[in-house]
Amino acid sequence: MLRNLPRIRGKYVFDYDFKEATFLRVGGKCDVVFNPMDLADLVGFLRNRPSGLGVVVIGNASNTIVLDGGVRGCVINLSRYMRRIELKSQYAVVEAGALLPHFINTSVESSVSSCEKLCGIPGTVGGAIAMNAGIPGFEISNALASVDLVDDCGTAASATVHELDMKYRDGNVPAGSIVTSAVFRTCGSSRADLENTVKELTGKRLRSQPLGATCGSAFKNPPNMKAWELIKESGCDRLSVGSAVVSDKHCNFLMNAGGAKASDFVKLIEIIKKIVFEKTGILLNEEIKIIGER
Ligand SMILES: Cc1cc2nc3c(=O)[nH]c(=O)nc-3n(C[C@H](O)[C@H](O)[C@H](O)COP(=O)(O)OP(=O)(O)OC[C@H]3O[C@@H](n4cnc5c(N)ncnc54)[C@H](O)[C@@H]3O)c2cc1C
Repeated sequence: MLRNLPRIRGKYVFDYDFKEATFLRVGGKCDVVFNPMDLADLVGFLRNRPSGLGVVVIGNASNTIVLDGGVRGCVINLSRYMRRIELKSQYAVVEAGALLPHFINTSVESSVSSCEKLCGIPGTVGGAIAMNAGIPGFEISNALASVDLVDDCGTAASATVHELDMKYRDGNVPAGSIVTSAVFRTCGSSRADLENTVKELTGKRLRSQPLGATCGSAFKNPPNMKAWELIKESGCDRLSVGSAVVSDKHCNFLMNAGGAKASDFVKLIEIIKKIVFEKTGILLNEEIKIIGER
């Protein structure tokens, strides 16, 4: 099937090793990664790919565990070429492969307020929309106006943020659809004020969250509760499986202490869920996405 891939203007990377690309530093190989040059290239690929070639989209893999068996089929990744950022007076048009920190830096440097409260979230704009990434009191949906999407047959569409009806850590993007670009609401602000916001929130993050090989919060907060409190109360704050460990700085963060496998994280997640459920009666749901084969 891989011999019949359509001609594209972007790039194919075969036998791509995820271990170096995911934030947790785990994962097997993927048959092929496709980096589209632009929307037309992506649409052409989706319409002309061999029937039966599965596709999955990944952003900066800062919220994703790729399993040790890797990914059969094609991983689409927009972050090599589709990362244009256009700031206008009252809105910004941003391609989904742009890194959120880059969008934020560009806005702050231009004295434009939009997503600066999300500083420190290391994903792409597409990944952040798919996850409705956020901090307490602010989610990307609060600044989003609309998105452009393409489905897995290559049909393009648009949706307003109201039509998407994004939820807590769930952008509600239709299954199989890829966010290709987004329009954000913006307003003029003082660069010094924006820089202060970024500085304050970065300091808070550094004080409360670990640095290193992690994927951010492993579990979503259940309504009116904190996942980390449930993990701590249940005595799971020092658990580990192999080199997959619960961070001693923030127990909803799992870390690769060196040489962990994806299967270690999967086991650790299962153990935490089981113990928390037994102790509190609450079933934690993963915020982390898991893809690929065991
Ligand atoms: C140190 C650290 C701190 C973090 N802090 C936070 C935080 O404060 N708040 C928070 O919400 N998250 C946080 N995260 C988690 C993570 O950064 C966010 O969820 C981020 O938005 C994921 O973006 P990504 O591009 O890396 O997505 P990926 O991990 O690559 O993908 C995540 C999901 O999005 C989908 N996806 C990716 N791109 C697209 C696209 N173009 N179209 C459709 N679907 C797509 C994927 O299929 C997958 O289901 C943190 C992570 C780390 C490592």
